[in-house]
Amino acid sequence: MQTEENKKSFKTGEIIMRQGDAGKCAYVIESGRVEILIETTKGETQYVGSRGAGTMIGEMAILDDSPRTATVRVTEDCELLEITKEDFALRLDNADPVLHMTTQIILTRYRDLLKRSQIIGDPPKMNEAENIELNYAQGSSAVETVKITNEFESALKSDEISLHYQPLVDLQQGTICGFEALMRWEHPEKGFISPAIFIPIIEDSGLIVKASAWALKESLMALQRIEHRVGYDHELFMSVNFSSRDFAAPDFVDNVYETISVSDVSASQVHLEITERLLMGQPDNAKDTLSMCQKAGMSISIDDFGTGYSSLSYLHYFPIDTLKIDRSFVKDMLENDSSLALVKSIISLGKSLNMKIIAEGVENKEEGVKLKEMGCDMAQGYHYARPMPEKDVTAFVSENKKIDI
Ligand code: C2E
Ligand code: CA
Ligand code: CA
Repeated sequence: MQTEENKKSFKTGEIIMRQGDAGKCAYVIESGRVEILIETTKGETQYVGSRGAGTMIGEMAILDDSPRTATVRVTEDCELLEITKEDFALRLDNADPVLHMTTQIILTRYRDLLKRSQIIGDPPKMNEAENIELNYAQGSSAVETVKITNEFESALKSDEISLHYQPLVDLQQGTICGFEALMRWEHPEKGFISPAIFIPIIEDSGLIVKASAWALKESLMALQRIEHRVGYDHELFMSVNFSSRDFAAPDFVDNVYETISVSDVSASQVHLEITERLLMGQPDNAKDTLSMCQKAGMSISIDDFGTGYSSLSYLHYFPIDTLKIDRSFVKDMLENDSSLALVKSIISLGKSLNMKIIAEGVENKEEGVKLKEMGCDMAQGYHYARPMPEKDVTAFVSENKKIDI
């Protein structure tokens, strides 16, 4: 039974649990909201999601003694119900024998799943900040994965899934030249779920194909509306992310082409973003698919460039229009000579192959100025704008006809 002693109140800003601490209890959130943060080995704090009323946090503690895998901080004053390991064991002992046995079996299987996904005994090695969310998703959520897969499809039909648009800046002209469409999931109970968590899961299940088709259609309609409202003096583009699953679908090109032709946007305004890994996974198929898209007028961008493969020979083999320099290089560029040298070489490599270069993750003016100086064509990053909903894009574009690099 719930008693007054096991109710806890936390104020906004307070930390409920800290990553690495020993955990002795779980909490049910009765009211309020929390955010879940992961500290990387580089000392950076990464946001991985939020939880609201009716959800549980720190449940691993009542299953096992493993340390907390994340820090949980209050974002709206919280009332929590604390469940200790002992309390849980006691409730279980007193439960109906069938319920007791069923729970024990489920717990044992849950533990096995978690062991297999390496969160117990062999915690994920968190060297790459970019991999943290993925590790978290893989580690914490064999059960979550199943839930996400089940819930995503209906979420896509409701307004839980939306797109945010991050403006891209033409560094040489000082103007906005386009947007990247980025998916957002506002779950009614779990709150914001990061695409770094749900995209790999829906890729595995194949649901990504529906999601990408939706994102392309939705973002092109948004671009049409934005252009109509802003009355811009040059063409803006929309960059949409695609995965290898999308490319494997036999009707991929037909579907993309069909979506473009029913919109008012021209094919030259559509940029397809794919990663190096995708290209290397299915070279022949990808080459033909990309060539058809390029012939139809679309642009092909290589996302997270520099993080995938060491061989550059594929740049000749595939029809590529743009390289997007991964933000890890841009971030270190001003402190680290080898990152700067790499950024410089990618820019000159791109130029010699007649490709455009976009720098991702520009977070301050110094980086923008340096990139412009080195001849980089475009930039994307929090320094210029964060991804934003369509309703904010029009105002942003109207107020920023000239961008101070
Ligand atoms: P990405 O394609 O590399 O997208 C850029 C990510 O960097 C976005 O994260 C964006 O919010 C973030 N970002 C932009 N500027 C900055 C900056 O200055 N600093 C920092 N620290 N980050 C910046 P987001 O929206 O969380 O998306 C994460 C990843 O999820 C994307 O990485 C992409 O791989 C995937 N994703 C998102 N939407 C879609 C989608 O519709 N389809 C597919 N296939 N993947 C998607
Ligand atoms: Ca991208
Ligand atoms: Ca990227």
